[in-house]
Amino acid sequence: MKFKEILSAGVPLPEEILRREMAESGVPVELLRREMQKLMEVMLEEAEKQYGKRQKTLAGFTGDNGSKMASHDAVMLSEFSHMATVVALSLAESNAAMGRVVACPTGGACGVVPGVMYALKKLKGAQYDELLNSFIVAGGIGWCIEKNATIAGAEGGCQAEMGTAAAMASALLTYYFTESGEKAANAAAIALKSMLGLVCDPVGGYVEVPCVKRNGIAVNIAISAAEMALAGIESVIPFDEVVEAMHRVGKSLPESLRETGLGGLAATPTARKIVKDLKLRQHSAEKQ
Ligand code: SF4
Repeated sequence: MKFKEILSAGVPLPEEILRREMAESGVPVELLRREMQKLMEVMLEEAEKQYGKRQKTLAGFTGDNGSKMASHDAVMLSEFSHMATVVALSLAESNAAMGRVVACPTGGACGVVPGVMYALKKLKGAQYDELLNSFIVAGGIGWCIEKNATIAGAEGGCQAEMGTAAAMASALLTYYFTESGEKAANAAAIALKSMLGLVCDPVGGYVEVPCVKRNGIAVNIAISAAEMALAGIESVIPFDEVVEAMHRVGKSLPESLRETGLGGLAATPTARKIVKDLKLRQHSAEKQ
């Protein structure tokens, strides 16, 4: 199923996305809508709870980035981008600390969509139903990427995880402000193609470095892509073709750059040293 087919149905986008999902899963539209409501509520609740909180993560490679960003007065970012960045970092750190998160599309990229939703709610006065409809559009974007490519870092690299999260968040923002499916697709295409080729290289195999900070960056790519779409900028390459390109790029990535923790940043001297130090600490703790 291509996104352009959903767009050509001629009914409101959230309705058509849920109708198609019902046709595929057999789950009634009302139930699907309630499921989306629950996910959105958990995201917003956790954004509120974890906002700027320090976390004790599994490997301890991260944990205070959300807190640092929250207590920093932004010099360049808008209030909206700053808030979205704090949420993205905080929830990614909560994920690394085994906190409650909604995989969106994965745990590693869980901060991006809640980042923009929380900022819409807090700073733009977004109402529940408008937010939910925009979230369903984001879900439709993620669904199309999953169907036609992949959302797994182990298969397609970080472009598949973080790129999808940025595409979803940019479509969410654009749909919220315009209710235009075409503009939302343009935003998603711009966001995804800006992350094409991004490799998956978690240090030591822990979803901490570079994953947490990538959430903070991806949320800003989503905001920039949405702003461009709002300005009337279109993606020369349509969304569905960007997805196909992402899939091809993912397949051509070597295994070392697909969540094995063997290449990219994970293979740097510093990464090797901190992983070695961690193992020594774990070993001596086991002996005590
Ligand atoms: S680097 Fe890999 S593990 Fe980390 S967020 Fe990206 S895809 Fe997920």
